[in-house]
Amino acid sequence: MTPKDNKSETKQTSARAAAAAAPASSMTVCPECGKETDKTVRNVCPECFGKKLNLFDLPEVLHARVCQRCGAHYYKSKWEDMGTPDEVAMLTAEEHLAIPDGIENITVGMHPVARSPYIYDVLVDVEGDVDGVTYYKNGKVEVRIKREACEMCSRRAGGYFEGIIQIRANNRTPTKEEITECLKLVEESMMAQLKKGDKLAFVTDTMTFKDGADVYIGSSKAGKHVCKHIIEVLGGTVAESYTLAGMKDGKDIYRTTFAMKLPEYKKGDVVYFEDKVIEIKNCGKRVTGINLMNSSNFFIDGEHFKNTKLLGNTADAQEAVLVAIEEHGIQILDPVTFETVTIQKPMGFNALPGSEIKVFKTEYGIFAL
Ligand SMILES: [Zn+2]
Ligand SMILES: [Zn+2]
Repeated sequence: MTPKDNKSETKQTSARAAAAAAPASSMTVCPECGKETDKTVRNVCPECFGKKLNLFDLPEVLHARVCQRCGAHYYKSKWEDMGTPDEVAMLTAEEHLAIPDGIENITVGMHPVARSPYIYDVLVDVEGDVDGVTYYKNGKVEVRIKREACEMCSRRAGGYFEGIIQIRANNRTPTKEEITECLKLVEESMMAQLKKGDKLAFVTDTMTFKDGADVYIGSSKAGKHVCKHIIEVLGGTVAESYTLAGMKDGKDIYRTTFAMKLPEYKKGDVVYFEDKVIEIKNCGKRVTGINLMNSSNFFIDGEHFKNTKLLGNTADAQEAVLVAIEEHGIQILDPVTFETVTIQKPMGFNALPGSEIKVFKTEYGIFAL
């Protein structure tokens, strides 16, 4: 709305533009004040109608409830994210602003003024038309912001949880790095679900053990997304099971256990499988890697990747001196025996003789990485 001279905060409705328009030929006499007028509003002159009109009603003091933990605002019987205290003050005033029926072209202006972090004066001005005459009224309301804990934050503080994500690994113990990575992915995914409006998307508690971690979560629905996210990034599987945890409002309450298994092999593991030595790139539903015996790409359905043997991880590769490069092979000094041996030349190999290269020694031979 256009800026107005609203220095006076009297709650009086005034008429504007009353004298505008209408030719002099249609002059009548106002039955209330006896004045001649060329325009009537509900059968009286605009001024007399203005004296009777109350353009809006608003209590003098209003209370707003804001969660001191997450900033949610109790609005229309629900806890909602409402942004800044300024906005909360304005929304509270707007929620209680009562404008009578029959007013047209209504415009409402609000201007919050902070008297303290928790007390706001909201200056309100309203403009609206009746029978083509514009009326205007301003006023103010004091909004007191009460800080408390919203329903979700109370639950969170009370240790509420709907599900447990059990992070383990298939046929092995997950590494510390994997656990850290998983917990990071849990946080990431929970934040995304919280932003999408799942107020229960929080971690209540995390417990780490020798063989993995248990993450207690507020929302089972968010838990599903979390597991999906972890599997997308690290591979693995999840199995859900449900246990009855009690009753609420006559309904059974179930808790969900997400038994996550990180894949048996992680990136960089060197694995013997069907006469091949594979350096694993990814071991999810689909296993991908490089066959170190001939530098070819390797991929197979995860469920067919069986009867495997872990030979080590490329992180444990050794340095070896490159002696010579032949057409199909390279000569190196065995890092253990220091004998000269010829091994398979990897694809795109471009090191110079005399330099040190990374090799991985296994019972199936030495492989250049
Ligand atoms: Zn009158
Ligand atoms: Zn809260």
